[in-house]
Amino acid sequence: MRVLILSDIHANADALSTVLSSAGSVDAAWCLGDLVGYGPDPNECIAKIKELPNLVCLQGNHDAAATGHLALEGFNAEARASIEWLRGCLTDESRAFLETLEPHTVTNGVSMAHASPRQPMLEYLLDAYSAAQNFQYFENDFCFVGHTHVPLLFFSQDRGVTMQVPAPDTEVLLAPRCIANPGSVGQPRDRDPRAAYAIFDTERDTWNYARVPYDVEAVQGRMRTAGLPDRHVARLAGGW
Ligand code: ZN
Repeated sequence: MRVLILSDIHANADALSTVLSSAGSVDAAWCLGDLVGYGPDPNECIAKIKELPNLVCLQGNHDAAATGHLALEGFNAEARASIEWLRGCLTDESRAFLETLEPHTVTNGVSMAHASPRQPMLEYLLDAYSAAQNFQYFENDFCFVGHTHVPLLFFSQDRGVTMQVPAPDTEVLLAPRCIANPGSVGQPRDRDPRAAYAIFDTERDTWNYARVPYDVEAVQGRMRTAGLPDRHVARLAGGW
């Protein structure tokens, strides 16, 4: 089965459309959460995600905040302003979909969590030390996570845990055990503004991570029209 792994779409419809056409035909789509927040197109993105084949979709912290299930205190002032705008424009249908989601699950023998297996809604896995502690919090060979907006792989082998920054368009064998992050579709934070995603092959256990350019300026224009924070508009162009 060829599975599209996508995360942190953040209401960026141009990035999402570009990823979907770049990925081509897939048997399933596993979305690791944060469909909304920051971007100008929350309802459009939810509608597109809902149509994906054999969809498994997690709830991220922004999705939980959008539906009032996570207090705004944990977010900085700009993120709060953005979430308040979002709460005002979500349709009943979109809100109902976000309400059904959970922050972690197991599908096809693969664990998935929005942030980390230890703290599915909150923890940032950006270093091998934090990742090493997390291997005891899931039982499957693989765990897929998002939340950091940075594509990374962590391998746990006899000699310890190693971190790998994957090269785009390079097939990697997910030798057990492994924690894998596909990066962010709609708001990359590794200084590369291109949308990120991965293709996971369930028979061969391979991970193919990819980057695709999209029309950043069009999204920035819609963010300005919506009155979303300037800093969030600016960061899309630099990927930070
Ligand atoms: Zn996110």
